[in-house]
Amino acid sequence: MSDSLQKRDLDKLWHPCSQMKDYETFSPVHIKSAKGSIIHTENGELIDIISSWWCKSLGHGHSQIISAVKQQLDSFEHVILANTTNELIVSLCEKILKFCPEYDKVFFCDSGSDSVEVAIKMALQYQLQIGQSQRTGFMSLENGYHGETVLTLATGDCGLYSKPYEALMPKIDKITEVPYVNSYRDWPGELIEEEWSRVEAQLNPRKSTLAGIVIEPVLQGAGGMLFYKPSFISKLKEWCDANGVLLIADEILAGMGRLGYARASELANVVPDISVFSKGLSAGFSPIACALTTNKIFEVFYDDYESGKAFMHSNTYCGNAVGASAALAALSVYEQEKTFERVRKDSKLLVDLFEEISSVTGVLKNIRCQGFVVAADLLNKDGSELDSKKRVGYAIYKEAMKRGLLMRPLGNTVYFLPPLNISEEILHRSLPIAVDSIKAVFEA
Ligand code: PMP
Repeated sequence: MSDSLQKRDLDKLWHPCSQMKDYETFSPVHIKSAKGSIIHTENGELIDIISSWWCKSLGHGHSQIISAVKQQLDSFEHVILANTTNELIVSLCEKILKFCPEYDKVFFCDSGSDSVEVAIKMALQYQLQIGQSQRTGFMSLENGYHGETVLTLATGDCGLYSKPYEALMPKIDKITEVPYVNSYRDWPGELIEEEWSRVEAQLNPRKSTLAGIVIEPVLQGAGGMLFYKPSFISKLKEWCDANGVLLIADEILAGMGRLGYARASELANVVPDISVFSKGLSAGFSPIACALTTNKIFEVFYDDYESGKAFMHSNTYCGNAVGASAALAALSVYEQEKTFERVRKDSKLLVDLFEEISSVTGVLKNIRCQGFVVAADLLNKDGSELDSKKRVGYAIYKEAMKRGLLMRPLGNTVYFLPPLNISEEILHRSLPIAVDSIKAVFEA
């Protein structure tokens, strides 16, 4: 990075998810352009093996999305969506519901966090309006992550992000004993009766006061790239249905092809009452999100205005035309290029890469993989746990950046979460860089 840009950056910019003091010894990388799975920096190429915070499902600068957005800009970029309509937004609703035909209605939101808040608010208001005003509680899963607003931090279980704000966070109890699957070899596994009984024992005391349960279906991202048995979701949904509780699926990471399906809940054959999407919805082109639900829920909000039953959520950029045009184009590309099929077919490539990294470095355990997400935990060569204070993952991140791979471990969990259309050639190029970066840290 040129000195002057670095200086201007550090002078004015407060970077996200960063201890700014770290930048004293590790300067921000100067991005020049990005195309496909490659980011071009001032110092050379970086392979974007984490899809830029998990959203660039079709890589950077996809020509079809760019031309759709350009074309949209020629007609209008943003018009209030309350009381207006347009060809684009209706076509997008139709397209989304073609991907998720189990749902009837689309509510647009600004970001992933916003869409989770929308789902929670919708569930609470639904319960109130069907006469279940005692149902005000929510539960969610241990190790979950649902966003950065105070309510979504409370719904998640990642202290790293939420701790300072606890005083403001409502109490949302966490369901523990989630049946994780720690190796791709054990996938998908069947839920055993005893595992379910332990979960049911946590749910039953709350059955008349819960409004909803929020989950990341199958894959928990920020909590450590953890996979759990899909059959757990089926049981949870059965329990919810039997007890008048709504199930909310946060598909922001796992949906839109990341695990090879439009909805990760499809792996469990379950249709949650509300599902929310972002990231892959526009292939990370611009911030847009949505909450999908059924007419069963929608109708509870439909009445004369004076009834006060309307859903009044009103973010400024709801249905923004730039995001909507990108989303419509992204979904069309998924269809044309059969992206989700490719993910299901080529998932094995990621397992092979991590098996190779593991056998060469000897410091990986728990290799898990579904769709285009593969993860493993770092451990010492003698098999002992790493000292969490040593920031080994962060050291690997810095080494990989130097060598041309944007690989950003979560604590001591390393993972690849590449664009769904990444070439095999680039995937293979990532392998020696990951190996060398890990070796550089462990052999230092
Ligand atoms: N839920 C999940 C599962 C996520 O992975 C994320 C983003 N990492 C969010 C919610 C929040 O989305 P956003 O950053 O767009 O608010």
